[in-house]
Amino acid sequence: MRYEGRIYRPPSESDAYILQATIGCSWNKCTYCDMYRDKQFRERDLDEVLEDIALAAREAGPMVRKVFVADGDALILSLDRWLAILAACRSAFPNLRRVSCYAMASNVLAKTDDELAVLKAAGLTQLYIGPESGDDEVLKRIAKGSTAADHVAAAERARRAGMKQSVIFLLGAGGKALSAQHARASAELATAMDPEFLSLLTLTVIPGTPIARAEQKGLYELPDDTMILQELRDFVAHARPTGAVFRTNHASNRLAIGGRLPKDRDAILATIDAALSGEVPLRPEWLRGL
Ligand code: SF4
Repeated sequence: MRYEGRIYRPPSESDAYILQATIGCSWNKCTYCDMYRDKQFRERDLDEVLEDIALAAREAGPMVRKVFVADGDALILSLDRWLAILAACRSAFPNLRRVSCYAMASNVLAKTDDELAVLKAAGLTQLYIGPESGDDEVLKRIAKGSTAADHVAAAERARRAGMKQSVIFLLGAGGKALSAQHARASAELATAMDPEFLSLLTLTVIPGTPIARAEQKGLYELPDDTMILQELRDFVAHARPTGAVFRTNHASNRLAIGGRLPKDRDAILATIDAALSGEVPLRPEWLRGL
């Protein structure tokens, strides 16, 4: 397989064929993110992308059940380009069950309802959307580029098209100063977006990022483990999706838990409380990752 630079994918796409159709992220401004800072965003040449699909078909065609289209916000590609990619995937991988990608709210909102429905019908069935916070003040500070209302509108549009959504929030995004309002507003946004999958990651301050510089100037302070667990608790206690698979299994988290919300809320809260009281050990720092 041919890849340019580091490749990122959600934990639940660990068994997917990763197809790099764009290089980098078209936004590339979120203050905590260094995933694509070394890449200048561009769409990869379509012929190259189709060649990659043909290569993957020769190596693993019938084994490929999932395709994740990278990099950071591949939904930005035009409808024509997406349809060419999806058609090639369908014919290359006879057992294909789903195609997914990362999407910013603005990528969803830039497509018409018809375009989203056509994409879904052609096989793009799941989007990973990371509002990171439901609080507009936090969203502004982390330079997410979209508001909570934008994310609600994007989720509604994707749902109407029949796409599944995996929505990601970021513990610690509000720093110590906005910790409580970040957790509560994120729970409200999770409720409003009402995705099929809901996950939380924990912010890591990466040297060289804008948030690291803000930290040095005293403008951002990473919440400690207890505050992060309290954010997690507030989120779980207040989020009201109608039926979401909930996970904190990303390597950045200190506490890996999973279940369904709302069904398993009490059990999840009991585990968080046990962690807060020290009865359940946290993942040691050296085992954490991005
Ligand atoms: S949209 Fe995603 S990939 Fe792009 S800068 Fe923000 S967090 Fe990073």
